Amino acid sequence: MTQTRHYAGPKSVAAFEQACKLMPGGVNSPARAFGAVGGTPLFIDHADGPYLFDIDGNRYIDYIGSWGPMILGHRSPAVIEAIEKAIANGTSYGAPTEAESRLAQQIIDAVPSIDKVRLVNSGTEATMSAIRVARGATGRHKVIKFSGNYHGHVDSLLVAAGSAAATLGVPDSPGVTPGAGQDTIVLQYNDGDAVKNAFAAHPGEIAAVILEPVVGNMGCVPPTMEFLETLRAETLSDQSILIFDEVMTGFRLAYGGAQERFGVVPDMTTLGKVVGGGMPLGAYGGRADIMDNVLPAGKVFQAGTLSGNPVAVAAGSATLQQLVEDPPYEQLDAMGDRLADGVHAAASKHGIPHQVQHVGSMLTLFFNARPVTNWPEADRSDREAFGRYFWGLIEKGIYMPCSQFEALFFSNQHNEALIDETIDAIDQVLAGL
Ligand code: PMP
Repeated sequence: MTQTRHYAGPKSVAAFEQACKLMPGGVNSPARAFGAVGGTPLFIDHADGPYLFDIDGNRYIDYIGSWGPMILGHRSPAVIEAIEKAIANGTSYGAPTEAESRLAQQIIDAVPSIDKVRLVNSGTEATMSAIRVARGATGRHKVIKFSGNYHGHVDSLLVAAGSAAATLGVPDSPGVTPGAGQDTIVLQYNDGDAVKNAFAAHPGEIAAVILEPVVGNMGCVPPTMEFLETLRAETLSDQSILIFDEVMTGFRLAYGGAQERFGVVPDMTTLGKVVGGGMPLGAYGGRADIMDNVLPAGKVFQAGTLSGNPVAVAAGSATLQQLVEDPPYEQLDAMGDRLADGVHAAASKHGIPHQVQHVGSMLTLFFNARPVTNWPEADRSDREAFGRYFWGLIEKGIYMPCSQFEALFFSNQHNEALIDETIDAIDQVLAGL
């Protein structure tokens, strides 16, 4: 029998103790360690639909979805079937397959900015490669990024980074040399004037501007249309490359990602998470003339032993096919609005200074009296209140991201009843805060 509730149970506590002897901090990715909220991470046994089950037998409504990929919920039958079929033929060939071309075509059909695409193994590889290609294609060095945006653990982008880097207080990691970051210009999100000034100060020197078109990695922070339009105009007029990092937003905020939702088309796009259907797969793509710089069509080096892995490709392809056959986006938007309204009403009722910021199925409750449009504003949120909120919800069987500076995600398996159950739990937790 499964139970709903709890702080970390005795089996998770023991498993974490053991893991800490074996892996740094007991984990293979820092955000998982619950460092920002204190306490022991839950060790997961299995997942199903909208639920996670820990090794102590507790069941949780999952609002992480593996930090984004599981837009169809866990163990989607079509995805599992595609994986099983692929595995039966072998797990890796290191040679081209027709399945890679099918996924490439699906991506190109979906994402307005992508004429050609290359498959890689993670979001980090996608952004690292896109930056290299942008520099190679333009012959320029400088890159603009925005404070609190996270683009994976790429040295040149691990400057003023969001996500766990911000949560755990290392937005500029030790081990990143000054040289690696010296061509990175960091500006504040939603500040179009700063972008104009940077282009005025460095004409013909900026290879690319990279951003999360909706930020998830400092909590959910939407862009203003004016900001997106300024970025598009400035990069066009200086012949710099605009890169949307849609690792989180791609196939989530619309089938064609944030660029479809907002109608602003960049020159290059990076993808991860949903595109791999829960397997290790990322992608980067863009205009054909830019992508034809990549080896062996061009001279910019980028490679991967497992790139285009047949099992990962099968999972990604099946996921995208499901999203076309049964588009979840209207439902995700409706559930996002319902959750946002419910959380806002509950926090207001209990007199808690807050902002509920959401776009579609990405949402953050900021413990912050003022709207959050950039990192300095996000940084003023009450982390301590967030920690109590997080653990209160764990006790009620709701598994939220363990940081104020992450967006929650939900899937097409999260129906009205589950959203309402969640709002009810949030109402009770906020009442006791
Ligand atoms: N870009 C964005 C916007 C991300 O959210 C992430 C991961 N959270 C990455 C890049 C890096 O992806 P990965 O963890 O797959 O390397």
